[in-house]
Amino acid sequence: MAEKMCESCLMPFSKDTGKRESDKYCSLCYKDGKLMYEGNDLKEFQKIVYESMRSRGSNPLWAWFATFMIRFAPRWKKTV
Ligand SMILES: [Zn+2]
Repeated sequence: MAEKMCESCLMPFSKDTGKRESDKYCSLCYKDGKLMYEGNDLKEFQKIVYESMRSRGSNPLWAWFATFMIRFAPRWKKTV
């Protein structure tokens, strides 16, 4: 069975170091009872995730790839 991951940014829950409030979203996407990014602009969301990954020390190539993959997340699939 596939590993459970965030439906918004695709981060595997096993890599989520925060306190998760939702079954569908990671602790970064969903906080204090609501989605961190509530818009539906995929590009804008990708930029936020990229910058957040970089600020947490991810390698630029990996951050780029992970961010690119977001378009296949359940939350965004229907918008592209
Ligand atoms: Zn997420």
